[in-house]
Amino acid sequence: MYDVIVIGAGPAGCTAAKTLAGNGFRVLLAEKFKLPRYKSCSGQLINKTLYLVEKHFGEPVPACVTCVPAENRGMIFTNDKGCEYRFELPGLNVWRSSFDEWLAKKAERFGAVLRDETAALYCKEENDTVTVTFKGKSVYTEKARIVIDCEGVVGTLKRTLLPCKPQYITTYQTYNQGSIDLDHHYFYAYLQPEFSEYDAWFNVKDNQLVLGVSVKAGDVVPYYDRFIAYMMEKHGLRIERQLKTDRWLMPHILPGCKIDYGVGRVLFAGETAGFLNPMGEGISAGIESGYCAAQAIMRYFDDLEMVYSDYREKAKPLHSYMKRQWSFVACIADTFRVMKQV
Ligand SMILES: Cc1cc2nc3c(=O)[nH]c(=O)nc-3n(C[C@H](O)[C@H](O)[C@H](O)COP(=O)(O)OP(=O)(O)OC[C@H]3O[C@@H](n4cnc5c(N)ncnc54)[C@H](O)[C@@H]3O)c2cc1C
Repeated sequence: MYDVIVIGAGPAGCTAAKTLAGNGFRVLLAEKFKLPRYKSCSGQLINKTLYLVEKHFGEPVPACVTCVPAENRGMIFTNDKGCEYRFELPGLNVWRSSFDEWLAKKAERFGAVLRDETAALYCKEENDTVTVTFKGKSVYTEKARIVIDCEGVVGTLKRTLLPCKPQYITTYQTYNQGSIDLDHHYFYAYLQPEFSEYDAWFNVKDNQLVLGVSVKAGDVVPYYDRFIAYMMEKHGLRIERQLKTDRWLMPHILPGCKIDYGVGRVLFAGETAGFLNPMGEGISAGIESGYCAAQAIMRYFDDLEMVYSDYREKAKPLHSYMKRQWSFVACIADTFRVMKQV
């Protein structure tokens, strides 16, 4: 019997597990895949993320999880009119597989039982206890007083509890050998509607040129092809060899930034709850929401109603930050302004 079972060893789950275990709670942190696991991500840790990692994990992000160039100097947006906005913000460039494994090991060191290759299938609430059915080497159950579901974007378990029709954005990115006339220390986002229905982006990881586009529905390829042609003409992109491609999903966060805090004894955090900043920055939101959920449990373990009200209260600044970011992107690009008006 655990006090809390945390599902998913991403930033949200690791933060929740580390916070609770570090404060004497018996915690199981279950991860579906073998660690280090792959997660499609640009791996840009903004200043806020670096601050949150140091605050909640007690040390700065280590050099061993970064890639070249390790230093990210900021973001450069090109809006739908071709106008450039430059934001100088110190940050780091990491591989998510190594970064998330580091977070998970920290949670383990603080006392959480870390079990990878263990997928939560469903859960059942009975008499103040939740029974979670897992599939690892076999199918078995574990019990806890409270579960924090941090499964990330798809939220399979969440959907068994909260029937809903989630809206997704499909992302598609390629890793390439080649060259480009852009400074590798920046993350570049392009908001022209011909390149994506959300944003297109360019960044560099260990000398690989990463180019990506995102769509709400339909085929990503025509958008990707137009984006590549633009990058060739405008920034001298030359691709010698495509090394890898990946497709992923992101929750489609709309301007009101609806958050699902949980159902009964199963709280949601990170992307599962809907915490994601516009333009796809979600690591800081994962860490912050995982921490807020854990704090609420620590304070009101025996009073579920108070757990929810405290979680909502603690997550208010994060929720307001997401909404402010929406207003900001709506000011610089029509793609987002239109969404804001819906
Ligand atoms: C293409 C792309 C680029 C991005 N770039 C950035 C970026 O540069 N910076 C940034 O801040 N954010 C970025 N994001 C967003 C960021 O990756 C997410 O918002 C963030 O990872 C969410 O954290 P999380 O902990 O909620 O979920 P996740 O990081 O997705 O972690 C969820 C974990 O749960 C596990 N899991 C899933 N189901 C189960 C189950 N049933 N049982 C057990 N375990 C389960 C998964 O394997 C995973 O390890 C990007 C996203 C995409 C798609």
